[in-house]
Amino acid sequence: TGIPDGVICVAGLGVSGVAAARALAAAGRSVVVVEARDGESQRAAAAELAAAGVRVAFGTGLPAGAALVVTSPGWRPDHPLPAEAAARGVEVIGEVELAWRMRPPGAAPWLALTGTNGKTTAVRMLTSMLRAAGLSAVAVGNVGTPIVTAVAEPHDVLAVELSSFQLHWSATLAPAAAAVLNVAADHLDWHGSMEEYARAKGRVFERAGVVVHNADDAWSARLAAPYAAGPARTAAFTLGVPAAGMLGLVEDLLVDRAFVADPRGGAEELATLDDVRPLAPHNVANALAAAALARAHGVPAAAVRQGLRDHVPDPHRIAHVARVGGVDYVDDSKATNPHAAAASLAAYHSVVWVAGGQLKGADVEEVVRAAAGRLRGAVLLGADRARIRQALARHAANVPVVEVEGQETGVMDRVVTEAARLASPGDTVLLAPAGASLDMFAGYGARGDAFAGAVRRLAAAGTS
Ligand code: ADP
Repeated sequence: TGIPDGVICVAGLGVSGVAAARALAAAGRSVVVVEARDGESQRAAAAELAAAGVRVAFGTGLPAGAALVVTSPGWRPDHPLPAEAAARGVEVIGEVELAWRMRPPGAAPWLALTGTNGKTTAVRMLTSMLRAAGLSAVAVGNVGTPIVTAVAEPHDVLAVELSSFQLHWSATLAPAAAAVLNVAADHLDWHGSMEEYARAKGRVFERAGVVVHNADDAWSARLAAPYAAGPARTAAFTLGVPAAGMLGLVEDLLVDRAFVADPRGGAEELATLDDVRPLAPHNVANALAAAALARAHGVPAAAVRQGLRDHVPDPHRIAHVARVGGVDYVDDSKATNPHAAAASLAAYHSVVWVAGGQLKGADVEEVVRAAAGRLRGAVLLGADRARIRQALARHAANVPVVEVEGQETGVMDRVVTEAARLASPGDTVLLAPAGASLDMFAGYGARGDAFAGAVRRLAAAGTS
């Protein structure tokens, strides 16, 4: 199975760690979970695991006799436990690789997808298409059920979202088909450089049966280039008119010229732009990526369209909150890096931009330059707001900018009040922060909820 005899060390009592430990114990393996924190909830989790035959060791050291370490995906290679394992020549893998090695004979094939932005959306669209085709499918990996649990369930196919961390800790995955949506600067603090980050993303292609890239994204195309000579089948998608071997757009139709009987001949119509919700260019790219993987798996065109129609967008991804005084308020709190913010800004003509947070070392120059002509104003908050203000001063000097200081709960009310002042009827006030939220909020969800709450109070104040 690729899992050595001996003690398997699982890092941490997180959701994926617990699932991995349970799966290993159920398979008759000797498992030790290493957990640094020794608190009440950890003790309770340890007691539960003990009943399943799993030992929990509190500390950070590698247990004696460890033959394999299943690391937490968020841990960098220089974290004490993986570092000690590496120094002792013990293999370190992640939960995704463990799941791959543990899947039973004849288990469901994987359709894998990675990218800097759009992964969850595209994987959900893919799952919806597979289900519309009558298949039992679940979204797993970076979303939903732990993948190590899902591989043991009787599904027809798995839609697998993979982060760069999970790919870093994988080694032998062989998905039936794999796609890279896009690659832009993010998590560079973890990976060390853009090249290392992109290399991790590119690992998704290494043993894939079908290699799918985004022809409009330089990094995605570059990562797929070595596979052009085969033996994997290759395909691509574009927001332009597709060449043979691609999916793309012909006016308002999403069409397939890759997974058709004769790619040199005509295109097969999959769906229309109206089937993509919410309709924004980046979401059309996500739909095409999902469609490529679905088509690689033999899903008929009608099920691709039905899947898109059935797709329910996740919250905080260009979610329309309200229209107040002719101004639309949109929550894209999930735009946690500049590339994501650039994509959502590109979807609106006339925008008051709400931005700021932790930039994680990423550069905002490009997003500001690209959006400058469409900005009616900007309201900045959070840790790295000065960097955004400086970029605005360089590229959009005539755009009014308001900075809102403070960390208290009411801060979003002031942000929304300022944004409303800057907006005219027909404008969109867009929360697309370009940064992480953890300097001020519990997460992007809490940030989006705070924004939406403030918008609703604004609407209520207007009508009272
Ligand atoms: P992920 O799972 O990769 O974080 P999501 O589907 O949750 O992706 O989308 C996160 C954010 O990224 C969205 O809120 C949007 O701002 C942006 N985004 C989504 N799809 C794309 C895309 N294809 N290209 C660029 N940005 C995108």
